[in-house]
Amino acid sequence: MADYTTLRMGGPAGRIVAATSADEIIRAVRAADEPILVLAGGSNVVIGDAGFPGTVVLVRSGGLRVLSQDAESVTVRVEAGEPWDDLVATTVRNGWAGLECLSGIPGSTGATPIQNVGAYGQEVAETITGVEVYDRLDGTRRTVPAADCGFAYRGSIFKYQDRWVVLSVDFRLSRSPLSGPVRYAELARALGVEVGDQVPLADARAAVLRLRAGKGMVLDATDPDTRSVGSFFTNPVLDQATYALLRERAAELGEPPAWPGSDGMVKVSAAWLIDKAGFAKGHPGPGGVAISGKHTLALTNRSGTAHTGDLLTLANTIRDEVHDRFGVTLHPEPVLVNCAL
Ligand SMILES: Cc1cc2nc3c(=O)[nH]c(=O)nc-3n(C[C@H](O)[C@H](O)[C@H](O)COP(=O)(O)OP(=O)(O)OC[C@H]3O[C@@H](n4cnc5c(N)ncnc54)[C@H](O)[C@@H]3O)c2cc1C
Repeated sequence: MADYTTLRMGGPAGRIVAATSADEIIRAVRAADEPILVLAGGSNVVIGDAGFPGTVVLVRSGGLRVLSQDAESVTVRVEAGEPWDDLVATTVRNGWAGLECLSGIPGSTGATPIQNVGAYGQEVAETITGVEVYDRLDGTRRTVPAADCGFAYRGSIFKYQDRWVVLSVDFRLSRSPLSGPVRYAELARALGVEVGDQVPLADARAAVLRLRAGKGMVLDATDPDTRSVGSFFTNPVLDQATYALLRERAAELGEPPAWPGSDGMVKVSAAWLIDKAGFAKGHPGPGGVAISGKHTLALTNRSGTAHTGDLLTLANTIRDEVHDRFGVTLHPEPVLVNCAL
């Protein structure tokens, strides 16, 4: 499966079927014997060295149509296989605001609701109105309204399950030449504006693409730092007791970067924890894997020939050290297929 993942890792599949429309996706899923892996861009999966013994259904549908529009907004339905960044580029070109800060994220549109894709202060949960799915449990095709999608930080009801296959996604976007208020301080600095200011959509997209490229977060075949799944760990969300323990243990290192949530929980920076636990950018692991030279959170197949087992060994070492040092457990962001941390 290495040819189908951005990590360039993963053993053989039992069978691979490509589906180029929603109907074809349903037919392929119905016809396949268990187990099934629905795969699109392969940018958020870690597939084990033993591969996947069942059928891999490759989502290769595409296209966008306007469902409704008025003076303020436009609602579009986008097929699951549509490349995400092509969609973002189209919305920016058309003066449809709401996705501009999500520029440069690899993968397909249909995968974005699965982990509520987010970056630079924007998440797809803010603009998705519904997700059209094929329900493998009862064989029906229906639209799940956004309110029932269970969107959370890097999660939804669709993550870690194989009941629902996403066929298309509906987004409601604002008709505006300007972005929403810029929420992310680093992006505001790059744009030379204050947090809360609005900027032309194309400027927001260009600044995000520049920032992301500097961190190896835009796919580039010539840059081994992008042979990754993006962030390997999510930012841990801690209760007050664990947060207090972290601050105590980190006392001599300075204040850990943290973002308080409305529910008393506190999100802390996984990159900071990893760095302070002694894993700098470029830190090598076994067999040709390494932490990205540009971003502490990305684990990469630096040599191009490394194995999933090597990557998981590095991930385990990092997770154990962070836990021993700070009492915080890191959780992987990608979906692990036929392998485990
Ligand atoms: C360099 C880089 C940067 C990244 N930056 C970000 C970022 O800033 N923010 C962020 O949130 N993510 C980021 N990611 C992660 C990834 O790009 C996103 O999660 C993306 O949405 C995954 O899309 P995909 O099509 O590649 O999904 P895949 O990797 O193909 O699949 C991911 C999971 O979704 C399931 N799946 C995929 N399509 C469907 C479908 N149609 N129906 C049902 N299940 C499906 C798969 O079974 C699997 O479990 C980054 C990844 C890389 C490599």
